[in-house]
Amino acid sequence: MNKLKLVMIGNGMAGVRTIEELLKIAPGLYDITVFGAEAHPNYNRILLSPVLAGEQTVQDIVLNSWEWYEENGITLHAGKKVVDVDRVRRIVRAEDGTEAAYDRLLMCTGSTPFMLPVPGKDLKGVIAYRDIADTDYMIEAARTHRHAVVIGGGLLGLEAANGLMLRGMKVTVVHVMPWLMERQLDDVAGKLLQGSLEERGLNFMIGAQTQELVDNGEGQVGAIRFKDGTELPADLVVMAVGIRPNIGLAQQIHLHCERGIVVDDTMQTVTDARIYSVGECAQHRGVAYGLVAPLFEQAQVAANHLAQMGIGRYAGSQTSTKLKVTGIDLFSAGEFMGGEGCEEIVMSDPVEGVYKKLVIKDGKLVGACLYGDTADGSWYFKLLRERSDVSGIRDELMFGGPHD
Ligand SMILES: Cc1cc2nc3c(=O)[nH]c(=O)nc-3n(C[C@H](O)[C@H](O)[C@H](O)COP(=O)(O)OP(=O)(O)OC[C@H]3O[C@@H](n4cnc5c(N)ncnc54)[C@H](O)[C@@H]3O)c2cc1C
Repeated sequence: MNKLKLVMIGNGMAGVRTIEELLKIAPGLYDITVFGAEAHPNYNRILLSPVLAGEQTVQDIVLNSWEWYEENGITLHAGKKVVDVDRVRRIVRAEDGTEAAYDRLLMCTGSTPFMLPVPGKDLKGVIAYRDIADTDYMIEAARTHRHAVVIGGGLLGLEAANGLMLRGMKVTVVHVMPWLMERQLDDVAGKLLQGSLEERGLNFMIGAQTQELVDNGEGQVGAIRFKDGTELPADLVVMAVGIRPNIGLAQQIHLHCERGIVVDDTMQTVTDARIYSVGECAQHRGVAYGLVAPLFEQAQVAANHLAQMGIGRYAGSQTSTKLKVTGIDLFSAGEFMGGEGCEEIVMSDPVEGVYKKLVIKDGKLVGACLYGDTADGSWYFKLLRERSDVSGIRDELMFGGPHD
């Protein structure tokens, strides 16, 4: 009997997780073909930061080896970017002409880093931080150059800055907002974080606005110039100012896209019943996620439907954040800034460098921001996700969950 054909575009974390789930519940249902623009098997993108910091190697972070694809009968076209999909004939075509026919198509193209549209952004030495190639580029730059500037003091920017510093570069983080990681931390925690990173040797320019990246005369970046006219030397500029769902191909083949590829609660695209989408490229109930935990939940639901079980529903996710800079403990989730109708319970110990803020609304924990002691982060996150009534334990809440 001819098997159904499943083709996946994008050999990244969300897509491969979907296939893993599918193989668990419906092994043998499909002939599977995977196209990946990167010339690597699926790896743990999150762990690029420890690789940059010299704590792990690229080999350590591979999630699915070449053999895994072979053992599971998956045809992998690594290093082949898909440039077209014929939705009528149901054929996918890669840049080099490789084609594959499908009965079901899974679009998992991830995100594209946003590059600030400033003069000089195309100079050599100006990069984003997304994949193994970027990480290798930074490791090489640190061997041969001295001054690095990271634009963006969010999670990704700080992890890049920390890695480059550990590799011996003099690093300045340029952040236009009033404090670091403003989307995950309040001002108190953001400033504590800045203090700890300064003690380790990072430099910061908070509130600075980038005007231009300056050519060193050889087509390579040599400096960064700010709106106030000041300049800093920069042999390497890493832009970490945000990501955009990678929807170019989806738009080209007329799938309905807003910020991401619009999918329903089964992760099926709203345009074409044969096409599913999971990961950072997908937009579900108006949200395109940028962290892996929700993407793995999406993967489970998509696998369930690809397996023709038809019962899974994705209802959206709560997200939480940790920073992967060794020795810095930070956790944030939910509505950590508080606001109208919220009460805040705050504990601050500046000497120990510990700060905790819990936000409660209508008897429920709706946000948490922890710095310096994150031992109870997962307990708070559980309360938050389960929307538990915490009125009865309000007084003990700050002291954390059940301890052994
Ligand atoms: C340095 C770094 C640190 C991070 N740290 C964390 C963290 O601590 N916690 C967390 O939750 N998240 C973290 N993230 C984010 C996390 O890695 C992403 O959310 C996750 O990888 C997204 O999975 P995805 O499958 O949607 O996209 P990706 O993993 O990016 O996979 C998409 C793949 O599709 C390929 N592709 C795109 N277009 C095509 C095409 N036309 N043809 C073929 N292939 C194509 C891309 O090359 C890519 O390999 C981090 C990201 C980075 C870069």
